[in-house]
Amino acid sequence: MNIDGELKSVVFSHPCAIHMDPIEKKPLFHFLPGSKILSIATVGCNLHCLHCQNWEISQANPEESEAYYLSTNDLISLAQKYNTKSIAYTYTEPLAFYEYTLESSRIAHQNSFGIKNVLVTAAYINKKPLQELLKFTDAANIDVKAFSERFYRDICKATLKPVLDALILTKEMGVHVEVTYLIIPTLNDDPLEIKNFIRWFKDNLGVETPLHFSRFHPNYKLTNLPPTPAETLDRARNEALTAGLKYVYIGNLYSKDSENTFCGNCSKLLIERNGYTIISNILKKEGVCPYCNHKIYGVWK
Ligand SMILES: [Zn+2]
Repeated sequence: MNIDGELKSVVFSHPCAIHMDPIEKKPLFHFLPGSKILSIATVGCNLHCLHCQNWEISQANPEESEAYYLSTNDLISLAQKYNTKSIAYTYTEPLAFYEYTLESSRIAHQNSFGIKNVLVTAAYINKKPLQELLKFTDAANIDVKAFSERFYRDICKATLKPVLDALILTKEMGVHVEVTYLIIPTLNDDPLEIKNFIRWFKDNLGVETPLHFSRFHPNYKLTNLPPTPAETLDRARNEALTAGLKYVYIGNLYSKDSENTFCGNCSKLLIERNGYTIISNILKKEGVCPYCNHKIYGVWK
């Protein structure tokens, strides 16, 4: 808000949601698997997606919303109290509560705390502020909402290009990156669009970066469309695997092996999952395959 000529974040220290989640829920499958992560959000977003799952908080007005008071130092104390190794800035859009995210992340990284920071974001941001935030960010799950400017304009009230630039920058700065693409029937499920996205992904993020195709459920202002058929998700996953991507998952829907991690080199099963639960994990320390010693992309301890 413009308060006496000065721009102020009215959500700073005022989260509307504070939870402990399995890290698999973010989703992050290659970052401290099986751990719990302290997860916070404030109201607000810089996108306005018609299908938002958290629209009640993301599209709310801070002045009309209930929130807690949790200073940045209180947040770090809470993480210590629950003995969690990481904090997620999530649910709505951490870039909309940028000042709170940045300050909390900076404190979390101080030596005495050593807490890791995770962004769950649509990455619709300019280069300079993103660079600043990424200095204190350990992992990010970034949404690619579609691979067309038309979708971003019509459905999200945003644009695609800055998101792709942000993805490349995040990867370049050494942050652990996983990507989510929510497939919505008729809007971003065109096989050619998905093929183009996979090609861009491979060329710019590499075959080791994990990709999550996720199932759409009718919500908010997009209740006229059906949930994504299983075949559509399987087809997209198979397309990505055929293109050479090593770690491709399906979210919000059970499909055989689509939540499991197989070695990117010898293809043996390494981590078996059921939803957010780890059934087995035979990765060696440092994330090395016990069969072929291949280093699996990720942060494992
Ligand atoms: Zn292997």
